[in-house]
Amino acid sequence: MSYNRVALIGLGLIASSMFWAMKRAKMGSYVTGYARSTETREIARKIGLCDSVCDNLKSVVLDADLVVLCVPIGAMGKIMAEIAPYLKPGCTVTDVGSVKRSVIDLVAPNIPKNVHFVPAHPLAGTEHSGPESGFAALFDNRWCLITPNGADPKPVDALTIYWKALGANVDQLDPDHHDLVLAVTSHAPHLIAYTMVGVAEDMKRVTNSEVINYSATGFRDFTRIAASDPTMWRDVFLSNKEATLEVLGRFTEELFSLQRAIRTGDGDFLHDYFSRTRSIRRGIIDAGQDTGAPDFGRPKD
Ligand code: NAP
Repeated sequence: MSYNRVALIGLGLIASSMFWAMKRAKMGSYVTGYARSTETREIARKIGLCDSVCDNLKSVVLDADLVVLCVPIGAMGKIMAEIAPYLKPGCTVTDVGSVKRSVIDLVAPNIPKNVHFVPAHPLAGTEHSGPESGFAALFDNRWCLITPNGADPKPVDALTIYWKALGANVDQLDPDHHDLVLAVTSHAPHLIAYTMVGVAEDMKRVTNSEVINYSATGFRDFTRIAASDPTMWRDVFLSNKEATLEVLGRFTEELFSLQRAIRTGDGDFLHDYFSRTRSIRRGIIDAGQDTGAPDFGRPKD
């Protein structure tokens, strides 16, 4: 089953990748799109992103069977309140936000009685943002986690089929558990990357820019992550506060133990530690989740 009409609200990396993936899958859905700035809407029209680009929230959701919120988390509640009166009875509202509990708290209170709300999070992204950064293969073999939060099984099944058609593997998770898992696998690592690049920026003043000029791969990877969209990541940390702080607390304890091992020359401790972490990396490769972001750029077809 596919949706006849899909509305994408927010036309950045995730929405544009969804659009190209829908077209690649030949779903046949008519796709409307809305972005708040005239500039983004003009770019979308120029590159053929969406079958029609709307200038307001009312026209983008009118008659849509699936409405996808693809804006930063902090903007979702307000947008939901604005679109609520215009939603088609029986339609499904979903989102792609990187945190689930706070999205549910922001969005669910404004969902009309005859509309389904099925929160979701595709675990795929790059450090690029905006309408031109999307590409059809973004979700291929990546996970999309649905956190149904009591939604009817039928719309959950339909959304599962939809994300599978976009190339993703789909699983269901409790929203709070999702937020804890993501704090470990994504949110805390981003914060650590931001911090490390901040340290290098600070050190630059005493090392005459060598840290930038002679960047080794570890640091280069950090700079790529730390180039991610500031608004999106500000919202992620503010809305997944507890889980992120819990993980950072544990991180600090581990860091202290490694610090002590270095200071006391405890090579066995370091070697054992790095052997354990190496096996985690092997597990990720075995699970087929080691692919970095593919070269980005829209497919020409
Ligand atoms: P993006 O490329 O930066 O695009 C964001 C879009 O939202 C733009 O169209 C922007 O409009 C619009 N927007 C921003 N602030 C807004 C506001 N206050 N009101 C209305 N519209 C607003 O972002 P993205 O990477 O696609 O991320 C979108 C969502 O996907 C976020 O909730 C994020 O948590 C989630 N997500 C991201 C990733 C990732 O790696 N990027 C991965 C998974 C999930 P203008 O262009 O007009 O400013």
